[in-house]
Amino acid sequence: MTTTHASLTTTDATLHGKVALVTGASRGIGAATALRLAREGADVAVTYVNGKEAAEEVVRAVEALGRRAVALRADSADADEAAGAVERTAQQLGGLDVLVNNAGVGVLGPLEGLSLADVDRVLAVNVRGVFLASQAAAARMSAGGRIITIGSCMVQRVPGPGGTLYATSKSALIGLTKALARELGPRGITANVIHPGPIDTDMNPADGPYAPDQAALTALGRFGTADEVASMVAYLAGADYVTGTEFAVDGGHAA
Ligand code: NDP
Repeated sequence: MTTTHASLTTTDATLHGKVALVTGASRGIGAATALRLAREGADVAVTYVNGKEAAEEVVRAVEALGRRAVALRADSADADEAAGAVERTAQQLGGLDVLVNNAGVGVLGPLEGLSLADVDRVLAVNVRGVFLASQAAAARMSAGGRIITIGSCMVQRVPGPGGTLYATSKSALIGLTKALARELGPRGITANVIHPGPIDTDMNPADGPYAPDQAALTALGRFGTADEVASMVAYLAGADYVTGTEFAVDGGHAA
């Protein structure tokens, strides 16, 4: 089977023999991504902070697919742990080919209500942790390496008040991605960023109080699923000639 560009379908076991690290993968988009990459043939490390049991369930699900997996407690807000997860993955699974920077936190609310602690926390997880993990991964990866970062539809369209801090943090990932693509391109390593729209997870449940408003902001009129984002990650993990660019998986939120 060959890659079908129109549907972003990839070959079976495209990632056979590859090692992936997905940050923040005890649940939500990260967990779906870990499973999808395993289905494509990758061995997978997942990080978590609080969800040990849930992360271990993801590991068991990956192993049931015949792939190796490890769960690592690593807080992306901690500089040593963010970079250290890359090293631990390489040591435990024998290298690193795909880094998925998925861990993220959202603090939404009026500008005047955001504390310095909020600013530091969101930037530490959403920006500094991504930077440090990418830096560590770049040092580990060889040609064919992939850095795939989860941004947000809020960088393309902020539909209302309350998003200053979150949009600021996620917007930084566009510059980082483009600069990584330029810096790592000569080594055959790609970097791309995915902007999910409203996706049904614990962070943003499709039955939450603001869900109908969010669904109405999309062209398709509905929330997306974590699997729909994971499909784009899998495509980018297998794509050779795609780098430095942004992909919206947002149901038309930016249209
Ligand atoms: P969830 O809140 O459902 O899951 C978050 C995951 O990240 C959990 O596995 C959690 O682990 C982990 N995590 C949280 N903080 C940290 C940290 N400091 N270090 C390491 N891991 C951490 O989020 P989603 O799946 O919805 O979101 C995933 C990504 O997608 C985020 O970057 C988010 O900003 C982005 N996104 C989500 C959208 C949505 O509508 N859901 C829309 C646009 C972007 P634990 O279980 O241990 O807490």
